[in-house]
Amino acid sequence: MSGNTETSVMDQILDRAIEQNPHSKELLKAFGPIIARQRQLVNSINLPKLDYSSIDKVKLRAGVSVIEQINLFAPDDPLTEIALSLTEAVKEALPKLAGELDRLSDLIQKDKLCLADYFATQPGDENKTMARWGNDLKISPSNMSFLLSLIERVLLERRAREATAALGEFAWEKGYCPVCGEFPSIALIEEDGGKRFLYCSSCGQEWRYTRVICPYCEKEAPKEMDYFYVENKTQESAFVCDQCKKYLVTLYRAGRLHVRDMDISAIALVHMDMIMQDKGYEPMTACPWNILK
Ligand SMILES: [Zn+2]
Ligand SMILES: [Zn+2]
Repeated sequence: MSGNTETSVMDQILDRAIEQNPHSKELLKAFGPIIARQRQLVNSINLPKLDYSSIDKVKLRAGVSVIEQINLFAPDDPLTEIALSLTEAVKEALPKLAGELDRLSDLIQKDKLCLADYFATQPGDENKTMARWGNDLKISPSNMSFLLSLIERVLLERRAREATAALGEFAWEKGYCPVCGEFPSIALIEEDGGKRFLYCSSCGQEWRYTRVICPYCEKEAPKEMDYFYVENKTQESAFVCDQCKKYLVTLYRAGRLHVRDMDISAIALVHMDMIMQDKGYEPMTACPWNILK
């Protein structure tokens, strides 16, 4: 698919999402072009090849995700190139961040801010790197985590594609992502057959998961699990679990009339996040648009 076709498909999806969810117009207009830029990068950027041959399907079946088995970041990943391209897209989408983003781009270009430090840290030590950047370079942690999450998504989405292509079919029975280990941001239930698919916003992976178990705490009690609906909207709901108090925005799909984009849908349905958080539930995973408090 050429870049232009991809852009126009994305534009159509965005226009339809705005038409159906006018309350999310501002968010969709801001995030749409950022997501489009991420897609371009995933499809076109040159990344060093990783070796996926040591991923063990037996471990996967036991719930050990790909990222726990091999390092999905390479020391020579083109972090600067990805970061500069994304800061440009974010500046266009969110002009009020322009000043801070220009400063970030400048620090990255002059090697004063070494992004590789973050991606090379041991899991759990990321906050130390962020704290050091905050102290030494006076960088706002929220803007920095936003940029890092955008960069991370580009790398992880490409590697999720490569890893799943290398693996072929594999069994996965967990509520967190088989590739990057994050919990889902949105689910899709096919009306025809009723299968539930969970979607990971950290890497773009989708996987099937039973409808009668909570993806977050694995509680199996169909009658205590409820779906919350907004009046007059039968296609949108939120799965709620009364044990762990988490919710998962869920879409119903009747047929395949329109191309769906799960990243766009997750943002378009932010009103569900507001309603569920008002009721005291928490999202299964934090995304830039669903941290409302
Ligand atoms: Zn993932
Ligand atoms: Zn639960």
